[in-house]
Amino acid sequence: MGDERRFATPADLHTHSSVSDGTEAPGELVRAAAAAGLGTVALTDHDTTAGWADAATAASEVGITLIPGMELSTRVQMASVHVLGYLFDPNDAGLAAEIERIRVGRRERAAAMVERIGRDYALDWNDVLAQTRDGATVGRPHIADALVARGHAATRSDAFAGILHWRAGYYQPHYAPDPMTGVRLIRAAGGVPVLAHPATHGRAGNMTEARIAALADAGLFGLEIDHRENTDEGKLWLHHMARRFGLAVTGSSDYHGEGKPNRLGENTTAPEVLDAIIAEGSGSAPYYTAPPGARP
Ligand code: AMP
Ligand code: FE
Ligand code: FE
Ligand code: ZN
Repeated sequence: MGDERRFATPADLHTHSSVSDGTEAPGELVRAAAAAGLGTVALTDHDTTAGWADAATAASEVGITLIPGMELSTRVQMASVHVLGYLFDPNDAGLAAEIERIRVGRRERAAAMVERIGRDYALDWNDVLAQTRDGATVGRPHIADALVARGHAATRSDAFAGILHWRAGYYQPHYAPDPMTGVRLIRAAGGVPVLAHPATHGRAGNMTEARIAALADAGLFGLEIDHRENTDEGKLWLHHMARRFGLAVTGSSDYHGEGKPNRLGENTTAPEVLDAIIAEGSGSAPYYTAPPGARP
């Protein structure tokens, strides 16, 4: 007993590549994960699985485990709620149709925001396209990069604090299902749903005890508690919720390459939780190939 675990740790289960709003290609990200000393990394781009194949190739080359995943956009009123999904079937018709709908909604929303911003600043849709990899899930980060390229903001974070903040008046939400639908769709596709950074606005945000209870009933597996944007007070409350509803606890970086200060491996997930996720995920398998000369 003890050391029969197949999947190496440390494990960082939340990262973004240029297939959504990260700055590194999926293969580069996996190489960076290996260089950072991780044994397992999950690729969780927003509303797309387009990076899985390239990430898997790189994972087999560098000999770390890749957990295929996604960060699904959902929404409660005006507040966005992110649901991480691991090891689901990327060809599941219900989930695939929903993410396509979200991605179309995101493009329409980004175009509308750019149209409004363009009334006050020199900026148009081509500026955003120049910052977006072909087919990538478009988000405010790409508009932020366009604002930086045009000299209207110094950094992505400055753009978020200024022009892209809802207070500035250019913000609008995009289509997204509610979190219950998100959790059910991920489970129906054989995946393992984890609520991403649920306490970024403290415990007074949109996550109530009743809502977490309902999500747990619908099949929620865990809460991403160790995340730099969860407040300390929020983390205490989330631990209480995890115990009450029997939810697992994960920790992750939410790495976006150079797009955010978050560093690979700054938070990690316990080995037994990783094993439980792998045991529950039935829609796809982790990618693992031992490097030459390594013990499996
Ligand atoms: P959206 O989903 O298009 O509204 O954009 C939200 C995304 O922007 C999140 O997934 C984050 O990755 C990113 N984001 C939010 N705040 C910041 C920030 N201050 N600096 C950089 N990226 C951010
Ligand atoms: Fe993001
Ligand atoms: Fe998120
Ligand atoms: Zn994320």
